[in-house]
Amino acid sequence: MVVLRTLLTTAAVMLIALALASPRAGAKQPNILFIFSDDHAPQAIGAYGSEINQTPNLDRIAKEGAVFQNSFCANSICGPSRACILTGKHSHKNGFLRNGNKFDGTQTTFPKLMQDAGYQTAVIGKWHLSTDPTGFDHWEVLPGQGNYYNPGFIQMDGSRKLYTGYCTDIITDNSLAWLQEQRDKEKPFILMCQHKAPHRNWSPPERHFSLYKDVDVPEPETLFDDYSGRSGLLKENEMSIKDHFHWGHDMKFHGENYFPEHFASQHRNAEYARMTDEQKEAWDAAYEPENEEFIRRMRAGELSDKDVIRWKYQRYIKDYLRCIQAVDDGVGRLLEYLDESGLAENTIVIYGSDQGFYLGEHGWYDKRWMFEESLLMPFLIRWPGVIDPGTNSTALIQNIDYGPTFLDLAGAEVPTEMQGRSMVPMLRNQCKPSASWRDAVYYAYYENAAVHNVPVHDGVRTDRYKLMFFPRTREWNLFDLQEDPLELKSVHGDPVYADILAGMQKRYRDLRQFYDVNSAVIPATRGDEQRWRERDAALTRNARKQDDVELAFIGDSITQGWEGSGKEVWNKYYGDRKTINLGIGGDRTEHVIWRLTHGNLGKIEPKVAVLMIGTNNTGHFDQDPDEVAAGVKRILEILEERLPETKVVLHGIFPRGPHRLDLKRLNNIAINQRIRRFADGDRVHFLEVGDAFLAPDGTINKEIMPDLLHLSSEGYERWAKALEPKLKELGL
Ligand code: CA
Repeated sequence: MVVLRTLLTTAAVMLIALALASPRAGAKQPNILFIFSDDHAPQAIGAYGSEINQTPNLDRIAKEGAVFQNSFCANSICGPSRACILTGKHSHKNGFLRNGNKFDGTQTTFPKLMQDAGYQTAVIGKWHLSTDPTGFDHWEVLPGQGNYYNPGFIQMDGSRKLYTGYCTDIITDNSLAWLQEQRDKEKPFILMCQHKAPHRNWSPPERHFSLYKDVDVPEPETLFDDYSGRSGLLKENEMSIKDHFHWGHDMKFHGENYFPEHFASQHRNAEYARMTDEQKEAWDAAYEPENEEFIRRMRAGELSDKDVIRWKYQRYIKDYLRCIQAVDDGVGRLLEYLDESGLAENTIVIYGSDQGFYLGEHGWYDKRWMFEESLLMPFLIRWPGVIDPGTNSTALIQNIDYGPTFLDLAGAEVPTEMQGRSMVPMLRNQCKPSASWRDAVYYAYYENAAVHNVPVHDGVRTDRYKLMFFPRTREWNLFDLQEDPLELKSVHGDPVYADILAGMQKRYRDLRQFYDVNSAVIPATRGDEQRWRERDAALTRNARKQDDVELAFIGDSITQGWEGSGKEVWNKYYGDRKTINLGIGGDRTEHVIWRLTHGNLGKIEPKVAVLMIGTNNTGHFDQDPDEVAAGVKRILEILEERLPETKVVLHGIFPRGPHRLDLKRLNNIAINQRIRRFADGDRVHFLEVGDAFLAPDGTINKEIMPDLLHLSSEGYERWAKALEPKLKELGL
């Protein structure tokens, strides 16, 4: 009897627990107001302890709800961050790796699934994904980056509507109008109110032109960082306050650049050009006296180089903070409306931004790097009756979690393909993560060779440590955030940290596997390396000129070597055939994928393509043979898509190293075992010619491969001879 009663009590407790835990159990679906800005760094929000500005309305969300201290981006740049949010997936899975990509709006996104769950969905403001929004009952978005003054918005019918006024205010007005008048009030809603502000070029509203006018905003400690103690790639950045602000666009001067040693000249202030005469008058009254004073002092020789950096920092940070003030004003208006309308009680309010930003830290503006200031994203959330006011969370959350969280709040299933996790159980537990919550976040940045010249890198951050990897230089950087919160010295080579480094590297490998990151298939440019950039451009130019190519060689330095030690042999065998060389030294599969989809095939339609690639995936990283084989497969798919009539000779990767059991040679052998299966006997022909370079005992004669990797002239002769019968068979 006692046992039965205990069982019944246990069952009742479990039922109550289930009812509390599940929003499906009859609970009213909450509304979600997701306010989202562009480039708003947490260090410029009062609730995050800002020392440079005040944000009373944003702080209200935190005061009445929670602030997440460890909220991170998966890829710190505008479009990619937004794609991560919509899909709940890392960039390599949602396909939007870099700005300039086009978002595939046919894929699964949380707004579509929320519609299925009965929600009204709306997005108003900045979108920046190149294709029209999908999954929204209502949308009105800025074209591309949009404008601050008198902006145009794309309407759902494809037309443009031009507004007079300030972008942040218009986005707030239109969000309020949708809430008040346009939505179906019978349904729960999610409204994404997405500001352009405070994105570059930091153009404030007239009412805040004079904010901070007579004060000096405190400088960050690392304004004059010299980049020592970390990867040498930091010095290649093009996002420094010292060298990369434009005279017109960023620093808001009119006319000629008087000081080209301190300011870049290319971009004028296009926002000013959009203003009405009245707006311009107010602008000039605020900015021109300061500009004239600066020019006077420069001409009088009163300012040192450091003084100029300091002046530029003040101009930049004040404009940035003025833009944020308008965002804060708008948040205040939205919160007030929720109060007045009675919606506040059942509406979850979230404030976020697509990534953090450098506010002079490391001497920078912009984002992209995995250093704290741009890796962090603000995340403030108010959920009346569930999250206690004033809650502070240190759980490691990431933007891939937002979609799963919204779906969970709506009572919808979270698809298993989404890589993020619902935060709802944590939110219901006063933002304390369960023991099974994540211990580390994975980060990856891909947009090298673009504005600001930040290299491809990825890494892992735990609550205390951060590991970064730079594939171009194959460098690790390790930071102990407790001992070195400003990230000024990598300790990857410090023996004291040997165990930490090994542990972080294991976590890095495991997380990449968990999220299915295979860099061999992710298109990658090496355009941040001058020699590569020039060769790639030359190959594209050459391929565009030719439309009668019969034979194309595609690969890395061994292919490029036909132009070096293989030159005479090339002339002998291919001089009379229309043959093109698409080899670039140092390339891995991912670079060939990039090149073949970014111009290197020009107009050519060769009869035969000879492909050999992968030995650098082995040489650089000893990359897993399955991963490299997937890279080769992707290249074959691209060739099939682009050149359906072309036969492909797929070479087994040539042997390398001194003997049969050389580890790198074995890795190539393992890759070859896999890729030979891609031959179909019709379009793709596998051809292993490695034996031509080997002695019977498996050693390599240095007269054939002087460095045990690249071919001599004799080596090329042997390659050509071994290949020739196959070319003849294929009709050449
Ligand atoms: Ca952004």
